[in-house]
Amino acid sequence: MSTIIIKIGGGRGIDPRDNAREIATLVNQGHRVVVVHGGSHETNELADTLGHPTQTIVSPSGHESRRTDRRTMEIFTMAYCGKVNKALVESLRSLDVNAVGLSGLDAGIWMGTRKGAIRSIEDGRTVIIRDDLSGRVDWVDAGFLNMLLDAGRIPVLTPPAGTPGGVAINVDADRAAAATAGAMNADELLLLSNVPGVLRDPSDEGSLLTEVSAQDFAIAEDAAKGRMKNKVLAAREALEARVARVVIGSAGGPNAIINARSGGGTVFTSGVCA
Ligand code: ADP
Repeated sequence: MSTIIIKIGGGRGIDPRDNAREIATLVNQGHRVVVVHGGSHETNELADTLGHPTQTIVSPSGHESRRTDRRTMEIFTMAYCGKVNKALVESLRSLDVNAVGLSGLDAGIWMGTRKGAIRSIEDGRTVIIRDDLSGRVDWVDAGFLNMLLDAGRIPVLTPPAGTPGGVAINVDADRAAAATAGAMNADELLLLSNVPGVLRDPSDEGSLLTEVSAQDFAIAEDAAKGRMKNKVLAAREALEARVARVVIGSAGGPNAIINARSGGGTVFTSGVCA
């Protein structure tokens, strides 16, 4: 049986509950499944409602991230760990999946480093931000996750992660899923979102890159703009951590997971990275 890490995006138009039935099928087949989810759209909506709208940081290399001050972290955890996580856990449990929803902060599952200073491009100028509560995952407690799986529990994970000093940090869920897949020696990592995969031209759904090999990894990296950059980076990191197969595919439709597993999307296979 395979170890499969399934990351479901949190962009506009995605509801991770739509994927619950397929997750239940995989679990019933005996696969070791870890679910990771985002919550960006719900967080943006809640942030507007609470009068603290989202600010996006664009780095000099074009990577986009959420400006995470203390108030944003509160709103972020309400949406990610609260509304979105519990809705998905409820759906899975109603399908007889023994799901347990946890953030990466809980039990030290995702341990990471807070960014010291972030360079942000604002009106063409580079600004340094020093008090941001964001960072990256350096270490995953695979032993704890395997213990849950051995006990028949299906982990449903979401940011934030935590630092060794116990500070909650906003981390990219795609890259956290990649780190989880690497730490668990997963067979497959599925990164599902609101697009069919990596598109050569983001405005043309017909321009899907179907397979990405060592030679054309740069094509995928060049094509990926904005938030897709993190997914392609996550794919690279997972392959470098010896995950055999990574698919960036669509979360939509009743067969989204089957489609992604059978190659519908952008497929990155092992041996891609030296
Ligand atoms: P999620 O929140 O579901 O993880 P994101 O919204 O963060 O997903 O990332 C997917 C988005 O990336 C797409 O909706 C699209 O707007 C954007 N994007 C940028 N470049 C590309 C590309 N080359 N191919 C596909 N999507 C792209």
